[in-house]
Amino acid sequence: MPFCPSCRYEYKPGVWKCPDCGAQLVDKLPEEAPKPEQEEWSNPDFVPLRNLPSRLYAEMLREALEAMGIISMIKGDEGIAFRTMTSHIPVSNVTVWVPRKDVEKAQQVADQMLDHI
Ligand SMILES: [Zn+2]
Repeated sequence: MPFCPSCRYEYKPGVWKCPDCGAQLVDKLPEEAPKPEQEEWSNPDFVPLRNLPSRLYAEMLREALEAMGIISMIKGDEGIAFRTMTSHIPVSNVTVWVPRKDVEKAQQVADQMLDHI
């Protein structure tokens, strides 16, 4: 089936020009460009280090990282506790982000610190 590449309409075989816009019809529509990942805060130089149960832990981790000379950013909100049949599950998406170049060092800091929690 011929398609108009700009209107994305389908036409009967034998039609070779779009009656709407005059574009030459093609056999197949080009693939739609894939949507870029939906990331509300994206910085290619930063990578997520840890997901933490609360902003308090995130602040603590940030301080520990700063003491090591690693800048970090906290993204996300305090977890929302919701009730299930059996328990309260804290949901959190507080994430600490660190520069890509520092991620290994930051990982060690995070491991050490979170051991003590
Ligand atoms: Zn058209």
